[in-house]
Amino acid sequence: MFLIPWSLRPEWIAMPKPPINKELLDILACPICKSGVRLRKGKLVCIRCGREYPLVDGIPIMLPEEARLKN
Ligand SMILES: [Zn+2]
Repeated sequence: MFLIPWSLRPEWIAMPKPPINKELLDILACPICKSGVRLRKGKLVCIRCGREYPLVDGIPIMLPEEARLKN
C-alpha cells in the first residue's frame, strides 16, 4: 500500500492556507444576526448580513469588532 504524505496531497498544494474544518463551519454563526456563515476567498461571510470574518491560521475570528461590511 502506497501512502501519499499528507502535505503532498493535491488539495493542499492548491490551497496555500489550511481549509477550515467543515464541521466547525457548520456550527459557526454570525454574532450579529445569528445566521450561518460561508467560506469565501479565505474569509467567513455571513449569509444574511454579509459581514466578513477573518480566518487566522484556520481559526475563525468571530468577533463583532472584527466584522467587515462589504461596501
Ligand atoms: Zn450576519
